[in-house]
Amino acid sequence: MDTNNTPPVCNYEGSDYQTSFWDQGGREYEDRTEAIALKRLLPESGRLMLELGAGAGRNTSRYAGFERVVLLDYSTTQLAQAQARLGKSDRYIFVAADVYRLPFVDGLFDGATMIRTLHHMADAPKALGQVRKVLGPGSTFILEFANKLNAKAILRYWLGKQDWSPFTLEPVEFVALNFDFHPKAVKKWLGALDFRIKKMLTVSHFRMDLLKKFIPTGLLVFLDSLAQWTGSLWQLTPSVFVRASVTRDGKVPPKGIPRHNSDEAIDWFKCPKCEASPLEFEKEHLHCSACGSDWAIRDGIYDFREPLGK
Ligand SMILES: [Zn+2]
Repeated sequence: MDTNNTPPVCNYEGSDYQTSFWDQGGREYEDRTEAIALKRLLPESGRLMLELGAGAGRNTSRYAGFERVVLLDYSTTQLAQAQARLGKSDRYIFVAADVYRLPFVDGLFDGATMIRTLHHMADAPKALGQVRKVLGPGSTFILEFANKLNAKAILRYWLGKQDWSPFTLEPVEFVALNFDFHPKAVKKWLGALDFRIKKMLTVSHFRMDLLKKFIPTGLLVFLDSLAQWTGSLWQLTPSVFVRASVTRDGKVPPKGIPRHNSDEAIDWFKCPKCEASPLEFEKEHLHCSACGSDWAIRDGIYDFREPLGK
């Protein structure tokens, strides 16, 4: 299997995204409404959570019910920011990797989140398939996706100000490597992967500069928190949260040996190049004896993007 032929990745390496977008970008409303949605969707407790597209760890502290969290991002500079924010502890494991080639053994996690990340996936079903593989029976997956069928896009389409239709099922790439999805398409992909959708919440009903400027943030957040529940009926907001689960008797992927009970992160990994596991720990890197690849560990970050040069 050629696992190296994967779609392009949106890379935030060296980006000041956390500062420019979240800390100084007037996104308090978005951050607070997301926190509410997450609280409503997260299981009370869990063992091991995979946070896909963790970035600088803005959401990580919200997963307090889980014993440990693996923060995964393609950018090591984003992960370094997350380390600085959360501190180095056994509780957090930092992994730089490509979502299309996840470096974990099958069925490892009992929880996963993907917030504002599917947005950058040129091949969303392929990425979701990778997530499904590393989730065990009875696990929970919380997915946020950008919704092409949002009220603003519908209005713009009807007024002739937008050439793409919000009603068709294919994703729309409105800026390079930025995709919006149709809720029906996302439901179909999840269903095909044996996920059961348990709950849907719509978020950011009032994401309009004019409203955010003149109405107190606290009030907008409160109104959004009420409106979120309509997500089970219809989804017309720019952001949609889904809680999906893998049934207890859900088919565990046949390949690989899940080592659910190991507390050692070293036992969780597989080689993203040839899919062999376990990997061997050698000083500053992990070694794959099957294909000979070495994967760096730098400043507490496991780097599975490219093997070390020979
Ligand atoms: Zn290998």
